[in-house]
Formats: sequence, C-alpha cells, structure tokens
Amino acid sequence: MSRLSNVSSTLAQETVEELYKDIERNIQTSQPGLCPVDLAAAFLHLSHARSCGKCTPCRVGLGRLEELINSVLDGKADMETLDVIETTAESIFRSADCAIGSEAARMAVKAVKGFRDDFEEHILHGRCKLQNFKSVPCVSECPAHVDIPGYIALIHEGRYADAVNLIRKDNPLPATCGMICEHPCEEHCRRKLVDDAINIRGLKRYAVEHEGEIKKPACEEATGKKIAIIGGGPSGLTAAYFLSKMGHECTVYEQRDKLGGMLRYGIPSYRLPREILDREIEGMKLTGFKTITNFSIGKDMSFDELRKQYDAVYISIGAHIDNKIGIDGEDADGVVSAVEMLRGIGDGKMPDFSGLKIVVVGGGNVAMDVARSAIRLGAESVKIAYRRRKADMTALAEEVEGAVADGCEIMELNSPVRIEKDADGKVAAIWLKPQIVGEVKWGRPAPVNADAPEVRIPCDRVLVAIGQGIESAQFGEAGIPLKRNRIAASDEGDFEGIEGVFSGGDCVTGPATVIKAIAGGKVAAANIDEYLGFNHLITSDVELPPVRFADREPMGRVNMTERPAGERIKDFCLMENSMTDQEACQESARCLQCDHFGCGLLKGGREFKW
Ligand SMILES: Cc1cc2nc3c(=O)[nH]c(=O)nc-3n(C[C@H](O)[C@H](O)[C@H](O)COP(=O)(O)OP(=O)(O)OC[C@H]3O[C@@H](n4cnc5c(N)ncnc54)[C@H](O)[C@@H]3O)c2cc1C
Ligand code: SF4
Ligand code: SF4
Repeated sequence: MSRLSNVSSTLAQETVEELYKDIERNIQTSQPGLCPVDLAAAFLHLSHARSCGKCTPCRVGLGRLEELINSVLDGKADMETLDVIETTAESIFRSADCAIGSEAARMAVKAVKGFRDDFEEHILHGRCKLQNFKSVPCVSECPAHVDIPGYIALIHEGRYADAVNLIRKDNPLPATCGMICEHPCEEHCRRKLVDDAINIRGLKRYAVEHEGEIKKPACEEATGKKIAIIGGGPSGLTAAYFLSKMGHECTVYEQRDKLGGMLRYGIPSYRLPREILDREIEGMKLTGFKTITNFSIGKDMSFDELRKQYDAVYISIGAHIDNKIGIDGEDADGVVSAVEMLRGIGDGKMPDFSGLKIVVVGGGNVAMDVARSAIRLGAESVKIAYRRRKADMTALAEEVEGAVADGCEIMELNSPVRIEKDADGKVAAIWLKPQIVGEVKWGRPAPVNADAPEVRIPCDRVLVAIGQGIESAQFGEAGIPLKRNRIAASDEGDFEGIEGVFSGGDCVTGPATVIKAIAGGKVAAANIDEYLGFNHLITSDVELPPVRFADREPMGRVNMTERPAGERIKDFCLMENSMTDQEACQESARCLQCDHFGCGLLKGGREFKW
C-alpha cells in the first residue's frame, strides 16, 4: 500500500457540497415572519450533525438541547424548561472542545435571549407569535411594501402605466427608486432558490421609462384640515402626496431653493438625472400640495408658531450636518465636507478639480459619490483613505467597484492622523497611519494601529465623508424628544404626550436610504389621517392579469449595464443603461409570483389597500 495518495472527490462528497449550497440558498430566501423557535431547532439539528462526537458536551449536550427545544414546539415544556435550555447551552458553550459545539450552543443562548417571548408563547399558548404576516419575501423586505409580484406581472403583460400606478399605491417615487433604490427587496427573493434574485429595481426603472404621461391622481373630498411638512426630501414629499390624496391641505416648507432633499443635494446626477427627479416631483405635486421653498423653520418662522397654524405637523428634516474627523490641520484651506460639496453641485456649482490630487476620507456611499464626482470634475488622482478593510466598507459593493473602475484608488486600512498645511494655510498632504484588522466589535473587525510608520500622501484637497448629523437642536428646545441628536419618534412616527406632531425619515432613523424615508412618510400619512379623526384608505384600481405558471428552469438574471468607464467619467450624464424590451420580458417572466404560490396566498398575500 502507498504511503500517501491524492484525494479525489466522490459523488457523495460532491453532492453534499451541492447540498450545502442549496441550504445556503434556502436560508438566504427565508422571509421574515418564520417561527424563530422552529428555525433554532433546525439549525441546532444541522450543527449536531457536524459533531465529531469526541467531546461529551457537543455529542450529548447538543442532543439534549435539541430535545428541550423540541419539547417547547411540542407543547410539553414549562417555563422552567427555558432556564434549563439557557444553562445547558451556556455550559456547552464553555466546555465543548471545538467551535462546532460552542458555536451551536452560543446560537441557542442567543435564541433564548433574543426571542424569549416567542418561546414563552409556545409554552403558554401552544402557538407561534407570527409577528409578520407579509409572507411574500420581496414585499416584506421593501420598507414601503410595494406590490412587487403585481407590478412585475403587469410589466410582463406590457401594461407599464398600470405597473407604475400600482407601485405608486405604496411608493410615490417610482422613478427615483427605479434609479437608485438599494433594493433590499431582492435580498430574500425566492427565485434565488432556482438561480438568482429577480432584478426588481431594474424592472421598476423599465416600467417608469415606458409609463407615458403622469396623470393627476384621484384625491378624496377636501377635509378642511391643514398639515405642515418641514422638509421637502423624499420623506416629506411622500407624506404630502398621500395626505393630499386623502383630502387634507398640505404645505411643504423647504429651506433650500428646490425640493428633493438629498435626492438633489446629495446623489449625483450621473446616478439620478435631475430631469427625472423634476418630473417625478411635478407628478407628485399634481395631488395639490403647496410648497414654500427658501423658507427655514427655525429661522424664518419658529416651530411653535408653525404648530399653532396647523392641525398637524410632520418633521422630516433629514441629516445634513457634516461630521468632522477631529484631527490636526482639519481647518486647512482645501478640506471640504463631502455633503457640502455635493450640495453645491446640486445647486449647479461645479468646482474645478482639473489637475488636482484629491484624497477622500470615508468608506460609505457618500464617499464613493464624492470620489466619483471628483474624477468627473477633472481630478488628476483620487485616493479613498479608509481605516478599515475594503470588505468592511458600508458602501454598496457595486459602488466600490464602480469607483475603482472610474479610476479611484482605495487605500484600505489607513487611518488619517493629521493634515499638513503649506505656508499659505492650504492643504499640502494628509498623513495616514497604517492599521491592522483587530477584534470584532459591533459585527465588524475594529482596526488598530499597525507596527508601521505613518505615510504622507501629498494632495490639494481632502474631501471628508464620514457620516452626517441632524440639525435637531431647535426641535429639542421646542420640547420634541431627542436621542443622540436624532428625533426620538415612536415606530408610528408620533410622540407620547405631544399632540399632532409626527416625524420620520433620516432625522429619526439616522442617515439611511430613500425607500426607508419614503416608508416613514407613508406611515406618518396613515397615522396623521387617523389622528385627525379619519380613516381614508389608499387603494389601487389596477386589475392584475391572471396568474401565470412561472418557468422554473434556471435562467441567468438580467443585470443592468453601464456606459464604459472611459466615457462616463467625462460627464455627469446617467451612467446606467436601461433594460431592453427583450431583457424586461425575459426578466419579468422569471418571477415566481410568491403572492399566489407558497405561503403568500395563505398568510396575507396581496394588500389591496392601507
Ligand atoms: C451623497 C448621498 C448619496 C446617497 N445615495 C443613496 C442611494 O443611492 N440610495 C438610497 O436609497 N439612498 C441614498 N442616500 C440616502 C438618501 O438620500 C436619504 O436617506 C434620504 O434622502 C432621506 O430622506 P429624508 O426626506 O428623510 O431627508 P432629506 O432627503 O435629507 O430631506 C430633508 C429636507 O429637509 C430640509 N430641511 C432641513 N431642515 C429644515 C428646516 N428647518 N426647515 C425647512 N426645511 C428643512 C432639507 O433642506 C431637505 O431638503 C444618499 C445620501 C447621500 C448624502
Ligand atoms: S422601492 Fe426599492 S425596495 Fe421597494 S420594491 Fe422598489 S427596488 Fe425594491
Ligand atoms: S420570485 Fe417574484 S414574488 Fe417571489 S420573491 Fe422574487 S420577486 Fe418576489
């Protein structure tokens, strides 16, 4: 017999590898609302199957834990069982020989602590809490709960205006979202079980591009109630749109020259062209709400004065203040805040960066936007300094890749330590301290100083993109509760003990996404309407085509393409290409219509009104 041999894979091993991938896809496509206790039991069983069996805590202990959790599901447990589960899991975590046992036990401890009330519901009432009834994966993950299978079915039938009107029932900014939504709806798309998620955002963009003229939306009879909305960003505009449809008289107060908030004064036009944004806002204004621009609540009128004049107020002021790095030399001429620069660009003030060396500090989407804008403004070089790893950047992976393709250089694991000025007080260089990846804190490995010397990067401008703050002090002084400068509204958008004041969007959540801001406006509209004593329902009269049996043969996902980097970096024109008719037809055919098949129909299915 030979001493050693090469390992060739067996059919069994190859099949198991495939099964792992299948399980991964199954987990990925699990929609919220599944019974967490049942899932915990299944995960534990899977972990136990991996046990080598050498150490008792893992071999015997995990089996015992499984029995205990199953007794909860079978209605045989009492409240003491919960304590036994917790202590058993903790002792396995401490005593198992390897990570298989200890991590399985850690998962069980996490489960008992994280959803103890679900365990209790099973023990006390023999049922599952099932908090989330929106069981269509994509619909439940879209914060505004857009009827995605519905609009995709309409696109497939070539009924584009109907598709967009159906979207508007929940989201009045379909053109904007078709361009720049971060599409959380695709995360758990069930089509991933077959091949890949449906390109939901791309299909939305396609429908809007073929919609034709925007028609005046139907509005309810005037109620005589007056509502003020502070801030003309997506959240404020959404609230104004739905409340006007409900028959209330709305006025949007916006401190800047034009409406749109960060859609205009943040997101660059190569991702969201201004003519598309303008058309969208004009379409929303057909509901009849008034807008007063160049008018700041706090400066031109106090919040208290405004409150007296209206039956209800919605605060949606966004997050616009730039954060400082807090290093020496930050006051140098040439250190520019990213939000300030993008705001200027939104007002049509294009800085000339021809031949300049730029360093951007930050790793989020704003950093990528400002870096890619700098390239388009003629910069000789753009370096993005980030103290963590590239993999830990909060920017979308496609934005990071796009920035690199545009010519930006990423300097990961480099923390800014000071900015060097020249004799005239202008930026001469930025000094960076190399980092090494360290302990995981809050889900990301924290960087720590590496044993390496500081690096000097000569540059003409430093663009700071390390997050935004909220200008909320005046609202705090007026008695609105604040939490770390955010407006501390409830999940319903209101405040305990404060009548008629609501808030939502970035000023409540912190800097987030357009669709979350839209969802905040939608929630506020429903609850303001109820506060005023009404129960108007937002509905859609679009009839859906009969259900089609989807083809489940694996088929590639149609991804969006972009203009070549060498061409697009010369201008601020739209970077992403549209889907073709053929692509939209093929992509829409892939949707499995989970509102009709699977749990969708049984547990909620389609929402016709809200
Ligand atoms: C550079 C950048 C890129 C982004 N890219 C994306 C993206 O690709 N996808 C995505 O989903 N999200 C993106 N976002 C986030 C998104 O733009 C925001 O989450 C969203 O705009 C928040 O909406 P909002 O209505 O809450 O606030 P905002 O859009 O900030 O609007 C608030 C409005 O209130 C006005 N205002 C403030 N104070 C007052 C006052 N006292 N009186 C009157 N008016 C006032 C402001 O001028 C502003 O117009 C990006 C953000 C930035 C900065
Ligand atoms: S708005 Fe965004 S999250 Fe909602 S369906 Fe459209 S792409 Fe998905
Ligand atoms: S297959 Fe269609 S209905 Fe199902 S989750 Fe994906 S987009 Fe939604």
